[in-house]
Amino acid sequence: MTEVLIAGAGPTGLVAAIELARRGVAVRVIDKSPQPFHGSRGKGLQPRTLEVFDDLGVVEEVLALGGPYLPIRVYAGRVPVWRARIGKITAPTAQTPYPNLLMIPQNHTERVLRDRLTGLGVEVEFGVALTDFTQDAEGVTARLGDETTRVRYLVGADGAHSVVRKRLGIPFEGQTREAERMIVADVRLSGVDRDVWRAYVKPLRRRFMLAMAPLPGTELFQLIAPLRPGETPELTREAIQRRLADAGARSARVAEVAWSSVWRANIRMARRYRDGRALIAGDAAHVHSPAGGQGLNTGVQDAYNLGWKLAAVLAGADEELLETYEAERLPVAAVVLGLSTRLHDTAATSVTKAFKRGADTDQLGIHYRYSPLSVGERAGDRAADGVVTSVDGERLRLFDLYRGPHWTLLAAAEPPAELDPGVRVHRVRASPTGDAFTLVRPDGYIGLTCRDARQVSEYLRRITVPTRPAIRESAAGRSTE
Ligand SMILES: Cc1cc2nc3c(=O)[nH]c(=O)nc-3n(C[C@H](O)[C@H](O)[C@H](O)COP(=O)(O)OP(=O)(O)OC[C@H]3O[C@@H](n4cnc5c(N)ncnc54)[C@H](O)[C@@H]3O)c2cc1C
Repeated sequence: MTEVLIAGAGPTGLVAAIELARRGVAVRVIDKSPQPFHGSRGKGLQPRTLEVFDDLGVVEEVLALGGPYLPIRVYAGRVPVWRARIGKITAPTAQTPYPNLLMIPQNHTERVLRDRLTGLGVEVEFGVALTDFTQDAEGVTARLGDETTRVRYLVGADGAHSVVRKRLGIPFEGQTREAERMIVADVRLSGVDRDVWRAYVKPLRRRFMLAMAPLPGTELFQLIAPLRPGETPELTREAIQRRLADAGARSARVAEVAWSSVWRANIRMARRYRDGRALIAGDAAHVHSPAGGQGLNTGVQDAYNLGWKLAAVLAGADEELLETYEAERLPVAAVVLGLSTRLHDTAATSVTKAFKRGADTDQLGIHYRYSPLSVGERAGDRAADGVVTSVDGERLRLFDLYRGPHWTLLAAAEPPAELDPGVRVHRVRASPTGDAFTLVRPDGYIGLTCRDARQVSEYLRRITVPTRPAIRESAAGRSTE
């Protein structure tokens, strides 16, 4: 029997499915679209998402398919007037192995995630839509067109127009700015080098006209062009060709429009993320401007936060654990909405300022310090990479210890004798936080730091780590070093 039905096989639904499937949960993923999404849309993967992908076992592939954010050359008409770069390119450090924003078309990211899911024995069912559902104390009855199915939980990763959110009557609060729209299209161009990202502004008034970013791993460029209020968008090859000429890109020839869409400024977030056995994540829970490249990344991290908790509850943990999903993720969405709206509004007045990025967009600073799951000094912080020394003198890379669906206890003192097999224990000379015990959650955040081994047992009892034997990838179970 399916335990969890995931509606929507975008990045959010796929990550949720991987997290559940690798913990042995029977999961079904449906998508109303007859085939996979084929556009570049969310093309920026933030450093924190790359760390999540490292844990999911897909980072190498994603890095191989993607590329760095190229320098930007801004033209006023045909005259180059300014150079810029989105973010700084920095060298990896021991704590941050993936410090840079990666550009990779969204359809390529989704393909990598789908392949990973296939490896776990789950295939996305395309052309199957969730049309309605009801829930009771034991489960959810979902209507998938003519089919009715019964599951224990439903995850709505069904995008901005989420059926799950609407059916639950969860308000989607915020604003829609009808006048602010832009064309986003993947185009094959000739007569344009692929060494820089070109942006065009209107001479004198400096109004943003168009940008074209070469997409790594393809022959395409992602073209972004704002529409004037009331303008009817034309998405044909000829119309895009005219737009390029108007902006000043005279040498560019449009050979093909591979994908196109019209984006409208919709800045909203859901008031709640859960109602009983139905939960929402990703664009179903929050939508905002693509400025700052936050949307896909926030959805991936919603799913990463939810996946292990849902698996734990299905394995016997208290349902209350699911409450911490909203408690931890809703405030993050609020911050992301503020940040992306600020960058979006800046872009309307100054193209040059719009490309400036601080550390706030890389998502490495996201923390859950305010969460009921965070106990002790530095609890709730991201568990950074680094090196610890085992009691035997072996140097251990932290991300190697964290990778997989388990909890990790770094113990610089005698650990509790009895621990759940879902916790891997490593005896170390000093734990990364300096405390005797550092307990790292499955999603790479510090849950607990403490001096007393009894506190570790108590904390884990409170959360009730899953006791299900089939934590598929932690074959070694509990290891003590
Ligand atoms: C122009 C543009 C540029 C962007 N740039 C960036 C960027 O640089 N970085 C970034 O992080 N984000 C970016 N984003 C945002 C990013 O694309 C989205 O945030 C991301 O796709 C959200 O993923 P999701 O899985 O939550 O939803 P979606 O990708 O929307 O997936 C939802 C899926 O659910 C399916 N579905 C819908 N209804 C049903 C139903 N009833 N039953 C079954 N299936 C259903 C849909 O077919 C779809 O496949 C950009 C967005 C746009 C428009």
